[in-house]
Amino acid sequence: MNRHESCLVLNAGSSSLKFSVLRRVEAHDDLQQVLSGQIAGIGTEAVFEARDANRRVIARQRWNAEDSQRREALLAFLLDWLPQALPEDRIVAAGHRVVHGGRTFSRPVRVTPEVLAELEALVPLAPLHQPHNLAPMRALAASHPELPQVACFDTAFHAELPWVASTYALPREPAYEGVQRYGFHGLSYEYVSQRLAALRPELANQRIVICHLGNGSSLAAVHAGRGVDTTMGFTALDGLPMGTRCGSLDPGVLLYLMREKGMGADSLEDLLYRRSGLLGVSGLSSDMRVLQESAEPAARRAVELFCFRVAKEVAAMAGSMGGIDALVFTAGIGENSPAVRADVCSRLGWLGLAIDDDANGRRALEISADESVLPVFVLPTNEETMIAMHTLSRLAGDGRGAALATRQEAGSCSTAPTPAIC
Ligand code: ADP
Repeated sequence: MNRHESCLVLNAGSSSLKFSVLRRVEAHDDLQQVLSGQIAGIGTEAVFEARDANRRVIARQRWNAEDSQRREALLAFLLDWLPQALPEDRIVAAGHRVVHGGRTFSRPVRVTPEVLAELEALVPLAPLHQPHNLAPMRALAASHPELPQVACFDTAFHAELPWVASTYALPREPAYEGVQRYGFHGLSYEYVSQRLAALRPELANQRIVICHLGNGSSLAAVHAGRGVDTTMGFTALDGLPMGTRCGSLDPGVLLYLMREKGMGADSLEDLLYRRSGLLGVSGLSSDMRVLQESAEPAARRAVELFCFRVAKEVAAMAGSMGGIDALVFTAGIGENSPAVRADVCSRLGWLGLAIDDDANGRRALEISADESVLPVFVLPTNEETMIAMHTLSRLAGDGRGAALATRQEAGSCSTAPTPAIC
């Protein structure tokens, strides 16, 4: 059987492992997502769920508390299950979402023992995410050594930020080496800016502000497809208030809490990452849908604060570029909440921006009104597609994944530990 070449995309977090399989569609030089899902509740009560291309659930499985802690066994389960679920596919590579590439990695990289060691050294920059991103790479390298792996970084899109956008006003001393603004959500910004350029080629060289509004939220200023400013900084705490993260905070607040309230690093981390943002302000939920459905004044205040800060930062991003030619909303809130889009845009009315309520309500691609001085778009993000694209082209570029580049060489992987994973 002539099987499809596919790429497995893994996005591993502290308690979940999200996965997708994207198939090469040679005729269109394109990728098609054939399957997606996640193992949630890792460490407590793990639940596996997979959906087909039409988002229909095709498999579910639960584990007891003891087995839920066995991360490698859960990954092994997934790798055993995939060939059965996709008998027509041959997984020829794995692409991983990695939160931090530091200053070393400004583009996707083939995973080798040396690269893994360098990524390990970046753990202190993202201690809550990086170790979980790296764990499946190590496990896969051990269990499927023939499967090429590529690491794709959330920071890479911002690697060429102008120095004024990446520098903190700290002394230029070795102790502060590496303490700079990196920015995150880069795979989303890359995907969305490429989609916009494909849909509206006249905007490809223009100044775009992209609002990635989800559980984690940030904005990016993108000029001619390149990142020139962003709201997240050294860590993914900075910038906008998020589901449970505080966003920008006067660093003096931390000194005050440490000195006057006796808080240490662990309790500050818990406060700033897990108990602040929409959850902290509302006292109710980190979920925008729940807040919008609530009549509680505190829930309304949380939504209002969020929209205020998004609008304020859009203006800041425009300022960094000397202007703005288009505004784009993406991610869970950006794609699905007409109310947030309307509120943010009405706060930006002074820019000459206006939206069409009907187009906004039905989530049209372009939601700006005829009289708006700049277009406003809603574009679904797709980080998995970006990772698969990078993974396949990285391997083709290495000359080692030549099977990926040409149909003629399909099937060239010599040792296949499982029938369908090369
Ligand atoms: P993550 O950062 O985890 O990828 P998402 O991009 O999935 O997050 O965004 C999750 C957020 O999107 C949640 O706050 C959720 O409430 C919000 N959201 C999803 N659908 C809607 C909707 N229809 N209306 C308002 N908010 C929504």
